[in-house]
Amino acid sequence: MDIYVLLKKTFDTEEKINISQGHIEDDGAEFIINPYDEYAVEEAIKQRDEHGGEVTVVTVGDEDSEKQLRTALAMGADKAVLINTEDDVAEGDQYTTAKILEAFFADKEVDLILAGNVAIDEASGQVGPRLAEALSIPYVTTITNLKIAGETTVTIEKDVEGDVEIVETSLPLLVTCQQGLNEPRYPSLPGIMKAKKKPLEELEIDDLDLDEDDVEAKTKTVDVFLPPEKEAGKMLEGDPQQQVQELVSLLKNEAKVL
Ligand SMILES: Cc1cc2nc3c(=O)[nH]c(=O)nc-3n(C[C@H](O)[C@H](O)[C@H](O)COP(=O)(O)OP(=O)(O)OC[C@H]3O[C@@H](n4cnc5c(N)ncnc54)[C@H](O)[C@@H]3O)c2cc1C
Repeated sequence: MDIYVLLKKTFDTEEKINISQGHIEDDGAEFIINPYDEYAVEEAIKQRDEHGGEVTVVTVGDEDSEKQLRTALAMGADKAVLINTEDDVAEGDQYTTAKILEAFFADKEVDLILAGNVAIDEASGQVGPRLAEALSIPYVTTITNLKIAGETTVTIEKDVEGDVEIVETSLPLLVTCQQGLNEPRYPSLPGIMKAKKKPLEELEIDDLDLDEDDVEAKTKTVDVFLPPEKEAGKMLEGDPQQQVQELVSLLKNEAKVL
């Protein structure tokens, strides 16, 4: 099977976010594989081990994205592709990313593409579905179980707000991965050593017959700001009747929601 994983690097969840002149500052920040993409890498490896074939991880990013790709290779992926947009695209959005990926997949044989359910930084959950639409293949989001029994029998369990929906579909297919799908492995020491020698191809948008205008963002970020500091909670005192009276008065006069 030809299996691909869409992988995005995101801020380390421990990083403190700083904003300067309407942009999130990422100088010196630590980056990790988007946690949902770790489920995608793990599932890709498991499906390859069961059905044979090859796992390729693809990222649209910059030179530093090589680190996250090498980690995926160390987990067990076979090949990696870095589409480096650093020199060509200054501003981009989900359209930009999906358009670049669409061009990448234009000449590829694909059985299965796995993406994360959502990127934990910008969290639109758009890239996977946008790409599947562009490639005219079916997609199922937020999957928690994947069974492939031949090209026409793929059975998927999908998270629907805490409940489970079962979907039957066929290959080629794109899925987005949800927590609970599997337990991503840590790269082993031999895995890390092997990853250094695995192929990592680097492309630019020019190699995909795209230029800057083709991938121009469709959206504009108007403002970026941190949520307001949370105020301390207020404890109401007295018997329940007094508390209810005070609560109603506060909702009316202070919070102005009644
Ligand atoms: C060239 C370029 C310039 C950009 N410039 C800006 C900018 O100026 N300002 C700004 O705020 N943002 C910028 N971005 C980021 C962009 O807006 C989004 O981060 C990106 O499109 C993904 O959207 P998302 O984070 O909502 O991902 P989601 O759609 O939530 O991600 C879901 C899944 O899609 C896949 N995916 C997402 N992104 C990538 C990727 N890059 N490569 C491979 N797979 C991916 C992963 O599997 C991920 O788990 C730029 C992106 C590009 C490619």
